[in-house]
Amino acid sequence: MAVPFRRTSKTAKRKRRTHFKLEIPGMVACPSCGEMKLAHRVCKECGTYKGKEVVNK
Ligand SMILES: [Zn+2]
Repeated sequence: MAVPFRRTSKTAKRKRRTHFKLEIPGMVACPSCGEMKLAHRVCKECGTYKGKEVVNK
């Protein structure tokens, strides 16, 4: 809810902002090449998904 900024204590403001993430969620390390990739998607570095399923590069 919009409220005059002095009415929100420093602690309340900081606690709210703990949920602001620095990085995009859903990034995981590829199990075959170790590159960061989007979860549940074919790795664009090595073209694999779930170990096999090779995509031509
Ligand atoms: Zn990979």
